[in-house]
Amino acid sequence: MRLYIHVPFCSKKCAYCAFYSLPLEEGAPGEKRIAGYAASLLREVSLRGEHLGRIPVKTVFFGGGTPSLLSGTIIGDIMRMIRACFLLTDNAEISAEANPDSALNDGWLFAARAAGVNRLSFGVQSFDDAVLRLLGRPHGARAAHAAFESARMAGFTNISIDLMWGLPGPPPYAQTQVQWLRQLKLATELKPEHIAAYGFTLEPASPLEKMYAGGGLSLPKEKELASMYLAGAEYLESRGYMQYEISNYARMGFMCRHNLAYWEGEEYLGLGPAAVSTIGDKRWTNAADLGEWQKAVTDGIPASSAEDLNEEAKAREMLMLRLRMNKGLPLKDWRQRIGRSAASACEPLIAVLQKNGLAAVRSGHLRLTRPGMLVSDTILSHFFARLEEG
Ligand code: SF4
Repeated sequence: MRLYIHVPFCSKKCAYCAFYSLPLEEGAPGEKRIAGYAASLLREVSLRGEHLGRIPVKTVFFGGGTPSLLSGTIIGDIMRMIRACFLLTDNAEISAEANPDSALNDGWLFAARAAGVNRLSFGVQSFDDAVLRLLGRPHGARAAHAAFESARMAGFTNISIDLMWGLPGPPPYAQTQVQWLRQLKLATELKPEHIAAYGFTLEPASPLEKMYAGGGLSLPKEKELASMYLAGAEYLESRGYMQYEISNYARMGFMCRHNLAYWEGEEYLGLGPAAVSTIGDKRWTNAADLGEWQKAVTDGIPASSAEDLNEEAKAREMLMLRLRMNKGLPLKDWRQRIGRSAASACEPLIAVLQKNGLAAVRSGHLRLTRPGMLVSDTILSHFFARLEEG
């Protein structure tokens, strides 16, 4: 089993964000809100653990939001409760997402390490202060460098840096390939074990989307985006980072085990507001509202939306997740799941993708090539259209 813990707070809302996160008040009101959240989370861990029967857990992932807003003491309490209610395996990967500013507060890095966190994922996004200001990030480039160095001093030997490419700028200065490669150079100079490089998307109703609609923002053209993705992947590879998923690169032995398990379709339990769980044929999502989730926990949970996953839904998801990975889709397993007639309906598409250099079949796995990964959404929509017909 994998555990995901959603921390719904951020020091302020970034101008592009579409995640469920709440800007946290400064001082005592913010601390009170976090304390209330932590009490509910501990209860949810205990209730779910009791229900599932102290099953083994191989990875824990604190995501958000901004998990580095939780004090080391609270993270320690949560880890103790997880150990009490689940069987945390000896070499479990315990990841926490962190923003550079809050990670530098009050010895947070040392406290998180002491609490058992052994992998950090820093939300850096860019080393350019002007870009960070435009994105509404709560930190500058200097804090990113300082947080990384401090994390090393605190003993972290497994650190990821998150960056975004395809970033907007004030007209007409959208990000270029040269600028993106410079960001990657700055990131690799720090020698992190892992780099996640996400393509920027303009989220509906976000402040940046409104700015774009009003003509106050430029986005890179499609051709520039394509060359950024391809050149970025090549650059990272030349620096020893192997691509193992559309947006993720790692040095040998440092792929994120938690995310790998998720992409490979393993079961996971999500705790906290808006967290999703998939166990057996069931999937449920906790209430995406702090107050509603807390009430459900007080009432003994669940007050969440749930769905049954049939074989077809699982096969579609397998297609979607496995094509993200370099390993690709195991065709024999997938054909068995989706059924012979649906699989046959997809054969001509697979042939066309291969002919156009967008996919390859090797050792029984269908893999997207890099140009294929670049248009993976379109490829998936073609698959789903074939499955509808088949
Ligand atoms: S730190 Fe992350 S979750 Fe929080 S507002 Fe910014 S993008 Fe959203």
